[in-house]
Amino acid sequence: MTDVTASPSRIAGDPEEFQLAFEQAPIGIALVAPDGRFLWVNAALSRICGYPAAELLRLTFQDITHPEDLDADLAQVEEMIAGSITAYTMEKRYFHARGHEVPVQLDVSLVRAPDGSPRYFISHVQDITERRGTRDALASAHDALRASQQRFAALVERSTDIICIIDEQGCIAYHSPAAERLLGYLPGSWLGTPFTAVVHPEDQAGLNETFRRLVLDPTHTPLTEVRVTTADGDWRHVEIVATNRLSDPAVGGIVANVRDVTERSEAATRLAWQAFHDSLTGLPNRALLADRLGHAVERARRAGDLTALLFLDLDRFKLVNDSMGHEAGDLLLIEVAQRLQQAVRTGDSVARLGGDEFVVLVESVGETDEVSALAERIGDVVSAPIQLPQGMVTVTASIGIAYDSGRGPEHLLRDADTALYRAKDKGRNRYHVFTESLRTAALRRMTAEQELRDALEHGRLEVHYQPIVDLADGNVHAVEALLRIRTEDGGLELPGEYIEVADESGLIVPVGAAVLEMACAAMGTWRARYGDGGPHHVAVNVSARELASAGFTDRVLQALEGNDLVAADLVLEFTEATVIGADRPTLRAVDWLHQLGVGLSIDDFGTGYSSLAYLKRFPIRSVKLDRTFVGGLGVDPSDAEIVKAVITLGRSLGLEVVAEGIETLDQLRRLEELGCHFGQGFLLGHPVASTDLRFGGPVLPAFTRRPMA
Ligand code: C2E
Ligand code: MG
Ligand code: MG
Repeated sequence: MTDVTASPSRIAGDPEEFQLAFEQAPIGIALVAPDGRFLWVNAALSRICGYPAAELLRLTFQDITHPEDLDADLAQVEEMIAGSITAYTMEKRYFHARGHEVPVQLDVSLVRAPDGSPRYFISHVQDITERRGTRDALASAHDALRASQQRFAALVERSTDIICIIDEQGCIAYHSPAAERLLGYLPGSWLGTPFTAVVHPEDQAGLNETFRRLVLDPTHTPLTEVRVTTADGDWRHVEIVATNRLSDPAVGGIVANVRDVTERSEAATRLAWQAFHDSLTGLPNRALLADRLGHAVERARRAGDLTALLFLDLDRFKLVNDSMGHEAGDLLLIEVAQRLQQAVRTGDSVARLGGDEFVVLVESVGETDEVSALAERIGDVVSAPIQLPQGMVTVTASIGIAYDSGRGPEHLLRDADTALYRAKDKGRNRYHVFTESLRTAALRRMTAEQELRDALEHGRLEVHYQPIVDLADGNVHAVEALLRIRTEDGGLELPGEYIEVADESGLIVPVGAAVLEMACAAMGTWRARYGDGGPHHVAVNVSARELASAGFTDRVLQALEGNDLVAADLVLEFTEATVIGADRPTLRAVDWLHQLGVGLSIDDFGTGYSSLAYLKRFPIRSVKLDRTFVGGLGVDPSDAEIVKAVITLGRSLGLEVVAEGIETLDQLRRLEELGCHFGQGFLLGHPVASTDLRFGGPVLPAFTRRPMA
């Protein structure tokens, strides 16, 4: 140290006291020369820097100051020397003797000589490691808080949900910007208004109640769906989840999270609509009709009115579908649906049950005449020509009408259906009103169907065989298989009505399959026992429905092969109606059977259609003259003429003619005279079980006694 300009002993009156105070001061104190050399240091400073005093006195403050803080320090020193400041305070870092940084706060003043030249600085140094730590911690805590607030704000502000705070009076105290985005209100315009102001009037009471409960019970977190209006006057569906935070001082309100669920809600509405409506015509479907019917019947009963149901079915709709395509069929149904809606009174419901079936529900009927008039009006509007892109079509409707009879709405639909069935039966394009006798008939049909189903399941179906006799020699030529139903109590039933209902219900398919199998099995047995001396073939009756059913030809083949038969051992009998109404797949099946060698026969010939053209187109082996003509022989001369004509026709077309229902010798004689080939009837043999049939020799002595032609 050169040129010491001052010594501490000269600074105070009592140098010792002064030195002691100086030495023991709790903060670091140094006297520093203008060039930076430490002139004097106290113990506290030695502690702060980690250097013993003697060592510090060989250093300058520059030596132990962090280089990054040095310029700032020197700049202050310069200013002080220049006189622009008299003291300065700064924070900077020292390097501790062990190498680590020590943050310090420096308070520096300058002592000048009487001539004003700088003599030395007095530096007060405080270690601020602790303070800085706290400050840094505070700063980072503050930063974290700010960040989290920002994050929260960003979430709230950017959320597609509206977040609202509602005060105890039910007014909006805060809402997130989504409110403006979603509902289109001007910023701030919603604030302070009751939160129900934008809620649909129908939903307000419910929401107020929810809110009231929530205020009373903070544990309650209800989920409510309401409609709210937008600034444009549209309605949106929103879902509200609310939490009571009234007692939370930071919130002081009800927090409501409002989410737009319009799309979801509309999808649900659409689904619900679809569940109760027919998607093609938009009319109510069966489910909705059932619901309305129930209510209508109840209302009408209270008021003492009648409820009527019109069950409507388009005649030959299938024809349009088949010939013009399903698209045309759909358009036709849509048009009919519209016409029906225009024809009914307001308040009456039109529903579509499916296919071409419609129902009109007529409420509070005063007079039944009104309903008949409506049925006629419907008949008229439906039968007016309909222009479709595929062409002009005209359809008619058959209508069944039923009135509520007090037995419940479900009966009404069934009764109307029964009446419709009757209207169709009577020739379509008309209406029929349900009566009790119709019900009895319907009931009988239902019982018959159940009985047949039961018999099929429990193996109570049997087949009896009636001989078809060669009228030339009186021998059994073939047999016809006829279905019999064995009742539970052992009785035997004829197939008549059973066949009808089985045909309607489709039950004829499994029943027919059973008959076919039994008939072929019996034929197999006769073949095995009698060889060519047995029946030439077994004839099995087949309905149109069976013939058109899937797998029919397979079943025939299986029955033949399974019983060691050839195709010629089997003849299938159909009615004329089956042949005339056959569609293309049915015709293909017929053709296939013919190619295979199965014989085809027309049953009940003469009762159906006058057109005989099909006889030429169809590969038929025989015709069976209906028994009504045979019954008329000797009674009605025109019957004899018909029989004669059919026999002549058969001859010219190469067809065998079988006369059915021969009951008397007189009939037999006349048929023989007319040259009929074959005959069948009670006179020649009743239908009997297969084991009761005898072959070989004439069935009647009359044949043997007859003079040979
Ligand atoms: P169908 O094919 O015309 O059969 C002849 C019917 O006339 C039989 O009645 C037979 O018992 C009856 N019959 C025979 N000879 C005489 C007679 O001299 N006088 C009178 N009054 N009737 C006679 P069934 O067995 O009651 O059969 C009635 C109809 O039921 C049959 O008429 C046939 O169309 C149908 N059917 C019978 N079995 C089956 C079957 O397995 N499948 C189908 N799809 N229909 C069958
Ligand atoms: Mg027959
Ligand atoms: Mg017949």
